[in-house]
Amino acid sequence: MPTYRTASEEATIRLGEELAKALPRKRAVLLIGNLGAGKTTMAKGIVRGLGVSEPEEVSSPTFTLIHEYGSEGRVYHIDLYRLDEPRQVATLGLDEIFDREAVVLVEWGERFPRLMPAERTEIRIRITGNDEREIEVTEHS
Ligand code: ADP
Ligand code: MG
Repeated sequence: MPTYRTASEEATIRLGEELAKALPRKRAVLLIGNLGAGKTTMAKGIVRGLGVSEPEEVSSPTFTLIHEYGSEGRVYHIDLYRLDEPRQVATLGLDEIFDREAVVLVEWGERFPRLMPAERTEIRIRITGNDEREIEVTEHS
């Protein structure tokens, strides 16, 4: 399982662009890490790498829960931080989104393992210093 290190927000965005190239057109990607680790930052890089949007236009979906990028909804960015109960998450209709031919980026999805596809990419981000992050990518197929 590849492990990367970045030393700035920009470096994490660039890594996201690189990782995006290896993603299948349809894939669930769980972004895992503490608050402030860099999950949304990584999402910006992936979204740019997939060519659907610029990082400036990617914001934390904390309040809207689900953002959609690209004309054909090629990329979704979901943040489940504010939800506590699997029942609340179930009302979002995530299954239908996971079924689409799209890359689906999910923050805090690991809190609801049964609602996440078994086939997925996990990107784990650990804070190892002020601006340093250790980023581990694992494929579950
Ligand atoms: P999360 O979505 O995990 O809560 P964000 O991506 O919103 O985290 O925020 C990450 C914060 O950490 C930003 O303020 C960013 O500038 C800062 N940061 C510092 N170093 C890095 C790094 N190497 N990679 C990503 N973010 C970093
Ligand atoms: Mg976030």
